[in-house]
Amino acid sequence: MSDIGQQTLQGRRAIVTGASSGIGAAAARELGGSGARVVVNCHSDRDAGEAVAEQIRAAGGRADVDCADVSNENNVERLFDHAREIMGGVDLLVSNAGIQQDAATVDMTLAQWQRVIDVNLTGQFLCARAAVREFLRPGHEHGPSRCRGNIICMSSVHEQIPWAGRVNYAASKGGVMLLMQSLAQEFSGKGIRINAVAPGAIKTSINRDAWDSEEARSDLQKLIPYQRIGEVEDVARVVRWLASDDSDYVVGTTIVVDGGMTLYPGFRGNG
Ligand code: NAD
Repeated sequence: MSDIGQQTLQGRRAIVTGASSGIGAAAARELGGSGARVVVNCHSDRDAGEAVAEQIRAAGGRADVDCADVSNENNVERLFDHAREIMGGVDLLVSNAGIQQDAATVDMTLAQWQRVIDVNLTGQFLCARAAVREFLRPGHEHGPSRCRGNIICMSSVHEQIPWAGRVNYAASKGGVMLLMQSLAQEFSGKGIRINAVAPGAIKTSINRDAWDSEEARSDLQKLIPYQRIGEVEDVARVVRWLASDDSDYVVGTTIVVDGGMTLYPGFRGNG
């Protein structure tokens, strides 16, 4: 948790999806440490979700846990009902849950295609729809925040970099980009702020193969001009900024957090 901007989110009520590990857990801790009350959404691992909530509470924050599957419409409705029951409303959604199921396209099963689209794209639609309904609900009070509601979609540099062998993942993140932009176009006039964060290579369990050996790390670093693999806190701090009024005029954009990966480093020295 960073100590810059402490308590800037006092009075905010947040849901962070996929928050039992990786970037989502770091974002939940960062928001909790900045004064927001947080519902830590975990999918199947309640103990891991409880551990994140406990870290937030131990640091003086307030956190609860909900184990919804973001790809399931009823689960998402229940997640928002539960959050409303606990916190009296929701002002901020960090739509972070995501998976990879990699396969060469000729070998990719329909189930692998479908599951990644269901979690990464349909899940973002279902959560954003529930959040917008909550923000527009008569009687919704958005407390100290300047905007009426705030959605931060976790995208990826693969919303713009094609990724062979991961067509399901790349298509889902390309979809997240236009989902986010279309939602922002539709709802910014109602005071709702919607943006995305596009991480590059961040050290988490989703990409363990890419960093857990010396050889893999060295290969990965060739793609990162800034020469270091990202940490979850690099992304969490940007989430906190997007959640705060410091970014109040930032609407419908993607903040890339990638150590320069999207600069096409393969062209360095070859211009
Ligand atoms: P992670 O595997 O640690 O986190 C993914 C989380 O999503 C897990 O907590 C998992 O339980 C949860 N989840 C999976 N299916 C779910 C479902 N159906 N319902 C609710 N939750 C579900 O990996 P991460 O790297 O922290 O990934 C978080 C997000 O960041 C993902 O959207 C991922 O695509 C994105 N991202 C990660 C990187 C990276 O390099 N790590 C880069 C770009 C984008």
